[in-house]
Amino acid sequence: MSVGTGQLLEFDHSYARELPGLSVPWTAAPVPAPALLALNEALAAELGLDAEALRAPAGVALLVGSGLPDGAQPVAQAYAGHQFGAYVPRLGDGRALLLGELVDRGGRRRDLHLKGSGRTPFARGGDGKAAVGPMLREYVTGEAMHALGIPTTRALAVVATGEQVVRESLLPGAVLARVAASHLRVGTFQYAAAASEPALVRDLADHAIARHFPDVAGAERPYLEFYRRVVDAQASLVARWMLVGFVHGVMNTDNTTISGETIDYGPCAFMDAFDPATVFSSIDHRGRYAYANQPGIAQWNLARLGETLVPLIDEDTDTAVEAATEVVTAFVERYEAYWASGMAAKLGLETPDTPLVQDLLALLHAQRVDFTRSFRALSAHLRGGDVRPLFAEPDAFDAWVARWEALLPPDRGAVAAAMDRVNPVYVPRNHLVEEAVAAATAGDTAPFHRLVDAVASPFDERPGLERYAEPAPAGCGPHVTYCGT
Ligand code: AMP
Ligand code: MG
Repeated sequence: MSVGTGQLLEFDHSYARELPGLSVPWTAAPVPAPALLALNEALAAELGLDAEALRAPAGVALLVGSGLPDGAQPVAQAYAGHQFGAYVPRLGDGRALLLGELVDRGGRRRDLHLKGSGRTPFARGGDGKAAVGPMLREYVTGEAMHALGIPTTRALAVVATGEQVVRESLLPGAVLARVAASHLRVGTFQYAAAASEPALVRDLADHAIARHFPDVAGAERPYLEFYRRVVDAQASLVARWMLVGFVHGVMNTDNTTISGETIDYGPCAFMDAFDPATVFSSIDHRGRYAYANQPGIAQWNLARLGETLVPLIDEDTDTAVEAATEVVTAFVERYEAYWASGMAAKLGLETPDTPLVQDLLALLHAQRVDFTRSFRALSAHLRGGDVRPLFAEPDAFDAWVARWEALLPPDRGAVAAAMDRVNPVYVPRNHLVEEAVAAATAGDTAPFHRLVDAVASPFDERPGLERYAEPAPAGCGPHVTYCGT
């Protein structure tokens, strides 16, 4: 079952083996001059991989998909997806490969996957490549999310290829090696459900259950229970995004995981000034994936998943649809519960108080206050700091603070400390990511590594890192847009 040579690692291939209809065996394009730009040593250790070996030529070769262990069977995965609401029946890994699965030190099965590894049969018009900038953006954003305690795929490494890729200009190319609980997406189920082989969606659901929710296998209605668990995982995930001001940017069904991990960081960003309408993607003209729309979009994507499961849930279609509808409708209350308890923690409250939170958010919006800084300012206020300068009209803030303080437990020092454990100082702000990525594209990765260090310990304020806690300088504009591929 397992393959390998006792070299750097051993892969398993349960996805390719159990679901042959959902992938195509494929190999990575040769890389002329691989050069390691970033290696995630902590993640390597988690996977039981030796960082020094990964830095050596054989390790770097592995990280771009050449020099794989004997018997490795990399595949391009098939999936469909709704992109900005429009159904595309065949998307798939156009420029990516699943190298195989590893069992990490904690016994968890993790995918090792490449992005930018060359054209595959799913490539359509694309060149199969990736540029250094967007791959480093995925690396730093994923590390920030992980450090914030938000489920996410993570970069293991970014390797420059030595090639130029053609975008609006010529850019240095790169391959990202990333690790995920799996790459099962809502779009994978859409693809399986549309296939001519009716057993495929059942096989896929069984695979997903075994991998992510093994305890539901024994439930009375396992597929319905599976659906409920995915809905719950996504409700929790999107609530966590909202609590840190994160905008994913491309919440297509192919970018919505079954595991509940954040995936495919493209034109995403953390907002500075609070504005529910914040959009970062330059191609999202209508604001479909704006900050405030994210919970509704997640629920819409989960409804698409539910449609694929209907035949598995019950022989009687009406019964199945009714049961699935009940589950997806409950997304709203699940999401709201996660969000309300998260907001209570951010404000140091023992019980959620939605009107209080809504009034704070309205104040932040009206006065265009920085979202991340405002919560740290509140804990600073409890310690006697003067945070009124953050607000253009501090009187309204004073009135809100009086209401808030009346609800707090008496030990203000303890409240402030608890708030600081959930409210980050450092998030990968857009202008910092752009700066780091631009420097790396020009050959200097030092700013990128400094930014990764800052966001990897987001809650501990450290001297010398002041600029990483600041919003974009005036003139930078709140809605910097870019395309993330
Ligand atoms: P993404 O926007 O990265 O989630 O990708 C959406 C779809 O476009 C997936 O099927 C990708 O594999 C494909 N794709 C994106 N960029 C490229 C590229 N440069 N070459 C080939 N396929 C691509
Ligand atoms: Mg994608």
